[in-house]
Amino acid sequence: LQRQYAQELALPSVTLDGSRIRLYLNAGLLSGVASEIAEGADGIGLYRTEIPFMLQQRFPSESEQVKVYQQVLSAASGRPVVMRTLDVGGDKPLPYFPIKEDNPFLGWRGIRLSLDHPELFLVQLRAMLQAGGDGKQLSILLPMVSNLDEIDQSLEYLQQAYVELKNDVNSNIVMPRIGIMLEVPAMLYQLDDVAKRVDFVSVGSNDLTQYLLAVDRNNPRVSSLFDSYHPGILRALHQAHLDCRYHKLDISICGELAGEPMGAILLVAMGYDQLSMNQGSLARINYLLRRVARADLDQLLAQALSLSNGFQVRELVKEYLNQQG
Ligand code: PEP
Ligand code: MG
Repeated sequence: LQRQYAQELALPSVTLDGSRIRLYLNAGLLSGVASEIAEGADGIGLYRTEIPFMLQQRFPSESEQVKVYQQVLSAASGRPVVMRTLDVGGDKPLPYFPIKEDNPFLGWRGIRLSLDHPELFLVQLRAMLQAGGDGKQLSILLPMVSNLDEIDQSLEYLQQAYVELKNDVNSNIVMPRIGIMLEVPAMLYQLDDVAKRVDFVSVGSNDLTQYLLAVDRNNPRVSSLFDSYHPGILRALHQAHLDCRYHKLDISICGELAGEPMGAILLVAMGYDQLSMNQGSLARINYLLRRVARADLDQLLAQALSLSNGFQVRELVKEYLNQQG
């Protein structure tokens, strides 16, 4: 079966009734990227830049970063790459930038840190823009955005980096598409305003689940409460998709849920057609999606959203998957 999964990865992910679902790779290391792309991933849906930063002894310089980002873009051989600006803090410390806080997940992480350190943020943006050059392959993604001002400020820094580079380095440099992670609950209710500012959102269902349920995503004592199949979470994901469609805001998802068979089914049922996942999930999810008809999923979704808890949702979807063989 594993071999069959892998063979099918080379085929596009199309449901039985002809819906094309794009399957992207989540990556942070370079290893494996080129082979997964060659085997059929549609691109990189999330490149976590904190991973190369974590492997260093100090903040990498602009030219060091340019090199890493160029390697990522070239490993993706022309396919789209969504590069996320530094998302340290929370559970991802940098050894050379210690942060001590009582509530790190509610503290100084992601875009908050970047905006408090423009000298670091600008270097990263400049490096990304230079790596992207005059092509259209690159998109930039901002993590942990919790208000519109953070978007506006980030766009100003991006504009500054772009103008500087255009004047001094490469007059053909292209402004990439820009998006935010949808992972702080309040942003679910401002998608109309988000749509006026950026090109896309990418749902971070790991953090969105953590923040909607008030459950630490890494605390084993409460791990049974961390449940992305909680009907409240599913309703939020569904509503986010409806709102984005209404406001013509491109939406994809890059949390772990997208790489789980039951999660992928529910997300496709909601209308998500861009799923980004770890390398190990791609072939299996493609195999699965090529065997379902999107039109059949409406009823499954309606049932799932009306259930009382995550256990019931999983039982329902498991039974559906078993019926499909
Ligand atoms: C998420 O929060 O779902 C996500 C994809 O980002 P990370 O896991 O890196 O926080
Ligand atoms: Mg996150």
